[in-house]
Amino acid sequence: DFPILAQTVHGKPLIYFDNAASTQKPRAVIEAQRHYYEHDNANIHRAVHTLSQRATHGYEQARETVRKFINARDAAECIFTRGTTDSINLIASCLGRSRLSTGDEVLLSELEHHSNIVPWQLAAQATGSKVIATPINNAGEILIDEFTKRLSLKTKAVSISWVSNALGSINPIAEMIRLTRRHAPNAVFVVDAAQWIAHGVTDVLLLDCDFLVFSGHKLYGPTGVGVLYGKRAVLDALPPYQGGGDMIETVSFEKTTYAALPNKFEAGTPNIAGVIGLAAAIDYVQSIGLADIAAYEHDLLQYATARINEVPTIRVIGTAASKAGVISFLLDGVAALDIGVKLDEAGIAVRTGHHCCMPLMKRLGVEGTVRASFAFYNTKQEVDALVEILKWIAKNHKPAAAAPPACAMASPQMINAISFAPRSAESPKAAADALAEDIALFDDAAGRSQFVIDLGDRLPKSFGQLKAISQRLPGCMSEVYVIGRAKPGSTNVLEFAADANADIVRGLIAIMQRLFSGQRADDVRAFDVEAFFRRIGLDQFITTQRRNGLGSLVAKLRQLATDIATKEV
Ligand code: PMP
Repeated sequence: DFPILAQTVHGKPLIYFDNAASTQKPRAVIEAQRHYYEHDNANIHRAVHTLSQRATHGYEQARETVRKFINARDAAECIFTRGTTDSINLIASCLGRSRLSTGDEVLLSELEHHSNIVPWQLAAQATGSKVIATPINNAGEILIDEFTKRLSLKTKAVSISWVSNALGSINPIAEMIRLTRRHAPNAVFVVDAAQWIAHGVTDVLLLDCDFLVFSGHKLYGPTGVGVLYGKRAVLDALPPYQGGGDMIETVSFEKTTYAALPNKFEAGTPNIAGVIGLAAAIDYVQSIGLADIAAYEHDLLQYATARINEVPTIRVIGTAASKAGVISFLLDGVAALDIGVKLDEAGIAVRTGHHCCMPLMKRLGVEGTVRASFAFYNTKQEVDALVEILKWIAKNHKPAAAAPPACAMASPQMINAISFAPRSAESPKAAADALAEDIALFDDAAGRSQFVIDLGDRLPKSFGQLKAISQRLPGCMSEVYVIGRAKPGSTNVLEFAADANADIVRGLIAIMQRLFSGQRADDVRAFDVEAFFRRIGLDQFITTQRRNGLGSLVAKLRQLATDIATKEV
């Protein structure tokens, strides 16, 4: 049913274990969207003509499909949004403008996704209220006693993920709602169901939550569409979120009145095709049955947990008693990013990094993890393939990046010990041509990334020293440190030293050094790094640049070159 899964990646059958980030789409969803565009496409709610009627009908039918799927009382309580993030922003913003005031509290947990933290911080800043995070234990479970202690008359909103995207912990959401009703009667309860919705049965009446939000794309549906369920009375009491067409009753320059639910919260032309695709996705998962999906995935998780623990040096992060199909892990001495690169070469898609949960990573004392997340189309054979590659990585990885430990203070000897790379060629262009010639010898991704890693092996190990004397580059998945200067004795030549704790990033740093270190600042500024990486077939490190350090490294080097060229250093 999933055409995309039939492909090979780097010559290996694709194994897609990044379902918590986004699921693949069955043919039924792709066809529903295509049918809509080929037959029914028009704007909704606005015209008498046949296409508009059909589009409106499909859109409103989809709302009814959602209603049944989550067992809402009334389809008008199901608002279409752009996704979970959009839904939470809507709730936080509208509560901020109506219910939150100085001294009020919003209770979250340490497990939350940034999407369930930052919108609340924005609302808190605007209202003088306070965001509080209830703690978890080392297994990644919310401590219910601690949660209860934090509920009070001051609590105006509680917003908790049903399932943690980073660890897979299933939170006792029904119990938390009951406790909230008892101890924080002024609070609305928001369930972030982004990671639950595709993995178990949802019944908003049974839960008795005020809001429940989810995204289509994690439910085998399209991106850019999601749902905000809210109890009618709670939604009615909120001010509108955005203004525009479709959300009004009458408009005049003197006074505008708003439409009834659900239109009040759906300003502008929505993602009609996305909504139709989402309804097809819901029909699709229901034809399989969410209870069966949950049972299959539970079995797969148990199998995967047992097998992955066979890998020497593995550390599973998140061992809650109740878990959805997510395994987060680390291998001793190997950067998560390097594991991700190696798995990709084997055709296995996983997510590496902080999973948009920086506070959680800090609480667990890790920079990030590797995360394999399952869907019902995954199999035990695929898990076996993952385990084999991980065993291979654990056995073959040289602890190359394990540089001297970081010290708290920089000593003069440390700074002297740093070697600023001399120039490798006449100009950045000449260096680029030489590198391109070398790399052209490799015609596959594995060969190219090994070439990069080998270059990194020859990079002087200055991680500890650089860490002691410079700030970590923001926006990188691995830890990257860089210092630059005008070459002593010159006024216009850039020199820099950098290091990272992931092998692949060390290799990228080595490439950047060959290109730029020891070169005239103006030449550095004029050189098109992105085009060069496309030319040598390593543009994946450009397209995912924010996550592996290259993007911010490039920006930092350009800044240094500009400072030198304009004589600021
Ligand atoms: N909450 C959780 C628990 C999530 O896993 C995600 C997606 N990773 C989000 C919120 C945000 O969802 P979206 O990006 O689809 O808006």
